[in-house]
Amino acid sequence: MSNLAVVGINWGDEGKGRMVDLFTDHYDVVVRYQGGGNAGHTVVNEKGKFALHLLPSGVFRKGVMNVLGNGVALDLENLCAEIEDLRSRGVDISPDNLRISERASILLPCHRDLDGLEEDRLAGLKYGSTKQGIAPFYSDKYRKKTVMAGDLFYPEALELHAREVLDWENLILKNVYGQEEISFDGFMEYLKKYGDALKPYICDTSALLSEAAEKGKNIMFEAQLGALRDLDMGIYPYTTSSNTLAAYAPIGAGVPGLKIDKVVGIVKAYSSCVGEGPFVSEWLGANGDALREAGAEYGAKTGRARRVGAFDAVATRYGIKMQGATSIALTKLDILSYMHSIPVCTQYSIGGKLTEDFPYPAALEKAKPVYENLPGWKCDISSVRRWEDLPENARRYVEYIEKSVGCRVEYISVGARREEYIHKEI
Ligand code: GDP
Repeated sequence: MSNLAVVGINWGDEGKGRMVDLFTDHYDVVVRYQGGGNAGHTVVNEKGKFALHLLPSGVFRKGVMNVLGNGVALDLENLCAEIEDLRSRGVDISPDNLRISERASILLPCHRDLDGLEEDRLAGLKYGSTKQGIAPFYSDKYRKKTVMAGDLFYPEALELHAREVLDWENLILKNVYGQEEISFDGFMEYLKKYGDALKPYICDTSALLSEAAEKGKNIMFEAQLGALRDLDMGIYPYTTSSNTLAAYAPIGAGVPGLKIDKVVGIVKAYSSCVGEGPFVSEWLGANGDALREAGAEYGAKTGRARRVGAFDAVATRYGIKMQGATSIALTKLDILSYMHSIPVCTQYSIGGKLTEDFPYPAALEKAKPVYENLPGWKCDISSVRRWEDLPENARRYVEYIEKSVGCRVEYISVGARREEYIHKEI
């Protein structure tokens, strides 16, 4: 048995979906352990191009059991829509390959409304939310004002919890934001409609995973977003509202005692970031536009143009440490093929002082990038499948990254399709 966590090292959108889809070949179970439908994992395979939001990326492989753990934000409505969408495109989804934790809390439509209302109130100071309700949802979970998926099987508990939750949400909607109250009947109808559709999938996934581990099955944990968006260790408050770190995976999956054997950190060959907050190696203007176009950097969920910039060794080294990454999967190396010379951010200058350490968020706002230029390779590498067949400058770029972040690159992705990668011995 071997357990693997596939996690983002930077700001998210590093190409996790693509790598998870590749690795699923060797895993029996794929678990999403945090976050909700606020991101999009892009997978390209023989059935087409898919942007998964809540479903684990193992849904495309026959024989893989996919689990939504207790740590996820369970948006019943969007999950039903995502399942329907995939089914209509020929992907089989049933309780045979998807299970939902009875302990997952339910993200409600009012969480999405509250998210938008709060971003509007913050106006110029907004956090850059995708308005999928994530921050209000996790706030409510921690103040114990949510309905859990398992409540759907206990009508009395469901009614009691639903009343408590609704009273609370209405207080906030009405008194903080001046909105209309939600009716109890409408709320129960919503829970019944989507809850009934998903009931066949809901079970004690903690027991399911423990049993899988005992039987020696291989379990993969799939993260959403990246280390710099982690609520505790990221660029707070421009973080998400859950823990994106590998260390949280066993908790959010419902198997807190399980040891993770391997952590593959997904790192993009350059930087990209969606939303607000400090982004030290950002390129504005023509250079940024050229990289954004080359890498098609537009949000999978929102279509928003992503901010882009140079590879940031300072942020990446920190992300690797926080994730406890045992190796790196470097994605989108092919995108840099158009550049003559490739700048890499090796240090930050803060108030005239140089540092290689990732600073406290308030200091990060003042950091300026210090670049080193590496020679480009100026040729198409998307058909390369062996390390030794990469142009020398491309190999040097990868080796420079390894050295500057202190972690070995084990996989190099040179295209979005499953087979477009290089396995490098480490
Ligand atoms: P995730 O959220 O971490 O899964 O990342 P996204 O799906 O948001 O972003 C990755 C995007 O890059 C998707 O459109 C992928 O299909 C694409 N992609 C992933 N790896 C590569 C690669 O090595 N080369 C190219 N050209 N595209 C890639």
